[in-house]
Amino acid sequence: MNMAEFLARAARACGERPAISYGEAVHCTYEEFARRAGSMAGFLREYLGMKPGDRVAITMKNCPAFLEVLYAIWHAGCCALPVNAKLHPKEMAFILENAGARSCFATSDLMGTVSPLADEIETLESVMEVDTPEYRAIQSREAIPIEPRAPDDLAWLFYTSGTTGRPKGAMLTHQNLHSMSLSYFADVDPVSENDCILHAAPLSHGSGLYAIPHVYKGANNIVPESGGFEPPEIFRLIEAYPGLAMFAAPTMVTRLIQSEAIRDADTTNLKVIAYGGGPMYLADLKKAMEALGNKLVQVYGQGESPMTITVVSRERHVDTAHPRFEERLASVGVPHTVVEVRVVDAGDNTLPPGETGEVLVRGDVVMKGYWNNPEATASALKGGWLHTGDVGVMDEDGFLTLKDRSKDLIISGGSNIYPREVEEVLLRHEGVQEVSVIGRPHPDWGEEVMAFVVPRDGGGVSEEELDGLCLEHIARFKRPRAYRFIEALPKNNYGKVLKTALREMAEGESRENGG
Ligand code: AMP
Repeated sequence: MNMAEFLARAARACGERPAISYGEAVHCTYEEFARRAGSMAGFLREYLGMKPGDRVAITMKNCPAFLEVLYAIWHAGCCALPVNAKLHPKEMAFILENAGARSCFATSDLMGTVSPLADEIETLESVMEVDTPEYRAIQSREAIPIEPRAPDDLAWLFYTSGTTGRPKGAMLTHQNLHSMSLSYFADVDPVSENDCILHAAPLSHGSGLYAIPHVYKGANNIVPESGGFEPPEIFRLIEAYPGLAMFAAPTMVTRLIQSEAIRDADTTNLKVIAYGGGPMYLADLKKAMEALGNKLVQVYGQGESPMTITVVSRERHVDTAHPRFEERLASVGVPHTVVEVRVVDAGDNTLPPGETGEVLVRGDVVMKGYWNNPEATASALKGGWLHTGDVGVMDEDGFLTLKDRSKDLIISGGSNIYPREVEEVLLRHEGVQEVSVIGRPHPDWGEEVMAFVVPRDGGGVSEEELDGLCLEHIARFKRPRAYRFIEALPKNNYGKVLKTALREMAEGESRENGG
């Protein structure tokens, strides 16, 4: 099983169909895509001397060449190492070195960062810029046959976003990506060669993973010319392409519906937005459904079980007649078809419905382990189950609701407080744009609740109003004891709020105050 076989299959079945588009122009057909992958694989193996299993890095912003290089790497039997283009140069260097990358393909904007690494990192022998005459030349070499791969062979080394500590490389095999693709068809959206996916989110992460099921079916992969996420461009591309799917972080969905461009946009062509990667607050979700209609599917996954743990289907987003409709909307849904999910106590014993514990996952989509890190692998995969580090609760119907990462849990006076619950309440205030709640050390209570609030432009919001809202909706002990109004929340490159940075800000304040 080699992911490249599915590209070859698509090239045979619908070779003349567009495979990759750049904005509204066809970049290559399936026949051309598969041929290029074979030629570039020849370059990797014969010219660069890469061996099966060698790690080849992709440090590129979103562009058509990303997918060409990805499939060339698989065709050659190597392991892809896609690196988020927005990382700090030091973080990039760490990942390339940790993975022992032997070669790297980069977009021109990143050459200045990546080329010098060839001198610093012992394993790194070559860095090649894409979209140059030399790059195009390697696409016309003679193609080599696809290197056979076992299901357990590595396909993608996926570095976790590292909101705490150093990122770790989750080893994703060809089998893992195959299971993820089958689950996409079963649980997220069926795909045909008349459909397409718009890569508005980083290809090094969820959007790139979701390219795979689309290649299986010969669907078009559209890369925005901006290489990023610009709502007016997104709406223009939606109008140009029928049957369009898109992966988006919750913050992207919110930006889309808050953008001016949505007013005149015709979103008929939009088939599905799969959103996930972080919590979607109920208030935002309702606004998105009002603006876009029945096109939303929520996915909960993590690098270690790519895009595939639980899902809320399109149908469940609009099942308003169900007595627990709201709870289900606020949940992350039911397990994907290809996995088992349970919630356990500290001894890994399954908890009854309604009780909160760590979320465990088992199935063919779960990673093989962490690269070169047997201790982390042993603890993450203890007993054959992936320990996600996420805290959640399963209801009687099998719907999982995530609380928070265990490290974000606040313990005040011996009581557990889930920041998400407090955040949901504060977001009900019209004047609140964004909010994040953390625990700060307290001499008597252990921790106390503190809220960082980003006010909406011209919204007007006061501490008293927010306190009143909390008194109305949640237990008194969960109320924030301190508020800080700030311009923006610290976020990582995937838009996840960095609670660690907020905790540091809070500690800094208390040191200044002699606490
Ligand atoms: P990453 O490995 O970088 O994709 O991060 C995965 C983490 O993001 C998960 O372990 C969750 O904590 C969080 N996450 C992913 N999807 C969701 C979702 N739908 N709702 C809430 N949190 C999510």
